[in-house]
Amino acid sequence: MEKKSHLKAFDVKFSGLKLGKHLFDFHLNDDFLKHYENSLVTQSDVAVSLELDKQSELLYILNFDLKGSINLNCDRCLTTFDLPVSDSYRMVMKVDSEMKSDQDDDIIFVSSHDLNCNVADYLYEFILLQLPLKVTCEMAELECDKEMINKLNNISSKEDPIEDESPWTKLQELKNKFKED
Ligand SMILES: [Zn+2]
Repeated sequence: MEKKSHLKAFDVKFSGLKLGKHLFDFHLNDDFLKHYENSLVTQSDVAVSLELDKQSELLYILNFDLKGSINLNCDRCLTTFDLPVSDSYRMVMKVDSEMKSDQDDDIIFVSSHDLNCNVADYLYEFILLQLPLKVTCEMAELECDKEMINKLNNISSKEDPIEDESPWTKLQELKNKFKED
């Protein structure tokens, strides 16, 4: 794949490593996401720390730790906000001369001739896994832009815009007013 050549920074050189744990750091920013066409996420600021545990010449355990934020638009009011991200993923890398055709999502097969394993596509998938089914301002502890919701409702239908307050709130306010008098 040619796009991988642009993502050299995401090559993990496993060839020649000693047994035991090794650390690698990556940064997933807007430039990283640009390599993926039509990505649902286009802005991110996520630091990834990869702990690669070489257990034998043929077996490696990869622990990815993600921390940072991705930039999303609220589905209701279109407000842009940063969603905090904190997650970890574990994968197994096997060195195998016969590349397995039955793909297991959690296993990376590399050839004994490979010196590097490019993890860019996995990191991109991890970013996409952060995407909630429904994006709302509440996820970032923000309140939706009510004016915008009303505008959007007016555009999408001729029905009455949603009232900010229920009739009961207004009734209660009236009652209180009369009580004071
Ligand atoms: Zn919102």
